[in-house]
Amino acid sequence: MGDAAQGRLFDDIVGRFPAIKVREFLLAAAGRKTARTEVSERKIHAFVDLMERHGLRLAIHDRKYVHAPDAAKGGWANQYGLELPIESPHDGFLMVYLAANPEDALAAMRAEHAQQDDEFGGLLGIPRCCRQSYIERIQVAAARQNDYLPLVLNGTSAAQPYPYLNNIGVQYFDYCLLSFYPCVFTCPESARVAWESYEYLATISRDWANKFLARHRSAILYTEYEGVYLLENGVFRDGWVHYEREHVKGTLNGLLFQLLGEGDRLQVVDSHQAVIARGSRVVQELRMPDLCVMVFA
Ligand SMILES: [Zn+2]
Repeated sequence: MGDAAQGRLFDDIVGRFPAIKVREFLLAAAGRKTARTEVSERKIHAFVDLMERHGLRLAIHDRKYVHAPDAAKGGWANQYGLELPIESPHDGFLMVYLAANPEDALAAMRAEHAQQDDEFGGLLGIPRCCRQSYIERIQVAAARQNDYLPLVLNGTSAAQPYPYLNNIGVQYFDYCLLSFYPCVFTCPESARVAWESYEYLATISRDWANKFLARHRSAILYTEYEGVYLLENGVFRDGWVHYEREHVKGTLNGLLFQLLGEGDRLQVVDSHQAVIARGSRVVQELRMPDLCVMVFA
């Protein structure tokens, strides 16, 4: 795909789709990976037309899915939900595989639905170590909402802050460079994939690509059922993240969001304990079950 064609695809899809989908379509069009996305049945014809016009090749699985989003994660879904036959009268989402050539799109579709997780992950451009960890964690993750983030944190023994390119916590807030869970937050291979994606996206629009980097340099406060929060541009110093309340984003506008808004710094006691403070005043100690605190720099 030439520079001009990439630019036309970008202009046609930016703003129409979330940034993480735009990232996937651009990388697939460039032959850098195979992408999987979900498209509502009602929009499938327009979607196929749009992508084929830009030279992408598509395979569409012949089942449809009704989503069950995770609780309190802003609509993010880690689970397939209900699977229906294609002729079912109920509306659903179709799984669409996109690549620069038809063989890869088809191979990814077949691999996923034959439960060939390793082959499928390879086509999606996921490093071997991260694919392996994902497969090892499938059963444990499925016991809750199928979110791997707490498992990645538990598997990481290094001290914080972690390399910002591995900040998969950004996925709940769009502008994430990773489409998969790193095996550990210090994985050099997933950081390399994130950086190569950034470099490619920057050749198309540097300003747009830089938004990904800005968001990756955020601290993440994750809970399984009480929301996920991001402290953008927080500065990490001596165990504290110093942040401004305007830069707090959350998937849930509840008590935890309010408490973060009352503070201006967060002490990372350890990966599962934190203290919200404003100046020298303690706003709230956080010791909830399932709390994960991660700082990236
Ligand atoms: Zn890895």
